[in-house]
Amino acid sequence: MTDRQEQITAMAEKHKQLMFDAERFIWTHPQTGYTEWEAHEYLKERFEKLGYELTLAGNIPGFITDVDTGIPGPMLCIMGELDALDIANHPEAVNGMTHACGHNGQAATMLGIAAALKESGALDGMCGKIRLMLVPAEEMIQLDFREGLRKQGIIKYNGGKPEFMHRGLFDGVDISLMVHGAPMNNDIDFGGNAGMNGCVAKIFTYKGRSSHAGGSPEDGINAQYAAMLGLQACNDLRETFRDDEHIRFHPIMKGVNCAVNIIPDEMKIESYVRGNSLEAIKRENKKINRALTGAALAIGAGVELCDRPGYAPEVHDLEYMQLTEQLCKDLVGEEHVEYEYDGWSTGSSDFGDVTCVMPGMQMWCAGASGHGHGIDYFITDPYKLCVNSAKIQLMTADALLTNGAEKAKHIIENYKPQFPSIRAYLDSLDEITLDKDAVIYNEDGSVTVNYCN
Ligand SMILES: [Zn+2]
Ligand SMILES: [Zn+2]
Repeated sequence: MTDRQEQITAMAEKHKQLMFDAERFIWTHPQTGYTEWEAHEYLKERFEKLGYELTLAGNIPGFITDVDTGIPGPMLCIMGELDALDIANHPEAVNGMTHACGHNGQAATMLGIAAALKESGALDGMCGKIRLMLVPAEEMIQLDFREGLRKQGIIKYNGGKPEFMHRGLFDGVDISLMVHGAPMNNDIDFGGNAGMNGCVAKIFTYKGRSSHAGGSPEDGINAQYAAMLGLQACNDLRETFRDDEHIRFHPIMKGVNCAVNIIPDEMKIESYVRGNSLEAIKRENKKINRALTGAALAIGAGVELCDRPGYAPEVHDLEYMQLTEQLCKDLVGEEHVEYEYDGWSTGSSDFGDVTCVMPGMQMWCAGASGHGHGIDYFITDPYKLCVNSAKIQLMTADALLTNGAEKAKHIIENYKPQFPSIRAYLDSLDEITLDKDAVIYNEDGSVTVNYCN
């Protein structure tokens, strides 16, 4: 570690209790996407106490604030997520929700970074600005609830980061950084890979006709059977998915709203179609929609297809990866860092939307045990989860923005984003939006089928 690295990491160390308290508070007050008001209020109060002026997202949780070095240069955005998961079986669930993805650690870390950046000498040698961002709704869940918010005009996008982009809260940002806690192998404190899948979010509803299940099943159309047939058809498509595109389709049936002696007339299903490129996601999603539609037609049911933009594939810039890998090694030692340059995660994050328009790096840090999104997920080492994470983010900010931001500028200039601007990216998402009654039974006995945009 250089003297400068020692200096800036000591600033994070000094505020570790602030982070530990926040980590516990947010763990015990978990709320799912777009309802994270308790974490929002907790952090807002403490950021303001530190002297920050915040720009609030407004009618959804989350905020940003800019730290200005006073010298012109690029803007780095450092972000932490706020949302928990619906996972009622977790032993520490509160109102059916738990931070089983560790976002409580990220949010707490942001508070430590904010406190450290107020220390005298924190910005020495740096130019440009650092935007601190607390962002809601990373987990793409409760699609029905979010569709309701969309219809009310509260949100436009299911994911918090594209929603923040839409609201202008990413305007002016040139490069981004995030550290996500994760259960890690034994001695590994930090990890990184080349990126992760994107996805489209789907709600599809099979429509049948109710009737007495014993007395007159011939008058009914069983929406549950149609749904089962639809999912079977999708399963039979799996061998047509290309191995190198990492397609994932993982539906959950949301259940029926009737008694056992009634033919179910509706079955709603949520799913994603994930893949490693927008092109692959769109292509395979079309096949999935065709299969779902065919199943409805097979037994005389209807199916409403509702596709919404999910996340874009996340791509990590090579030079940015190399920089953060070296910094991780500086901080915790080579043997505790594991970067896989050809590693690819088949999960998804709306940080992918960010890397569509600017260079971004999301690394993994230790501090949790069990399985991410599992009922055995617990925070076991808040020091690694929060303090190490704050240290590496400060070190990265310093490395990027020091020496006239030479490093940041080089990464930004050489990065080839998939879209030339935030606007162009958001416009492209409209192509994914689909609302279609895919099977129409005409009066003359013919059927009209349309599952495409
Ligand atoms: Zn997650
Ligand atoms: Zn997560």
